[in-house]
Amino acid sequence: MGDANVGKSSLLSRFGNDVFNETAAPTVGVDFITHRLQSDGKTIRLQIWDIAGEERFRSLTDTYVQGIDGAVIVFDITNSNSFKNVRYWSEMFNNNQSANVVKLLVGNKCDLSTERVIEHSEAKELADSLNIPYIEASAKDTSNVHEIFLTMVNNMAKTT
Ligand code: GDP
Repeated sequence: MGDANVGKSSLLSRFGNDVFNETAAPTVGVDFITHRLQSDGKTIRLQIWDIAGEERFRSLTDTYVQGIDGAVIVFDITNSNSFKNVRYWSEMFNNNQSANVVKLLVGNKCDLSTERVIEHSEAKELADSLNIPYIEASAKDTSNVHEIFLTMVNNMAKTT
């Protein structure tokens, strides 16, 4: 989850099919992929939902977060608004039913280093204050994309 245009669909298509599209169309509503991942000698089947960040879909988003095991909150390191909204996304889990949801903060588009407006240290500080790990990634150049989902699987395994 995360604001529109931060690269959620691109991270999913890089992870699921190893493709990147410069002109990806915005997600309308909700989309999902299933993908198998090896961890600790086990095959884990992940069902990953891409939750659209646009305001008009926010009531829909509330419905989809019921019953999930983990949430990857994505912002764009070149977009300060998407970073400001990280708190909004993380607060979706501040109720009893979702106390065990494993979370991870991702700063995407780290290939755009000259356009960066959110420093690594600033994002790490926010992640620390929310008590969740922080990873910088790029759906475009593939950096850390696999690590996002591997970290999620490993951390989800620890809570079950
Ligand atoms: P979503 O609305 O969060 O699903 O965002 P999209 O995946 O549709 O991406 C929005 C735009 O950002 C598209 O033009 C993508 O090509 C671009 N984009 C996504 N990830 C990256 C990345 O890691 N680096 C760069 N440079 N562009 C990206």
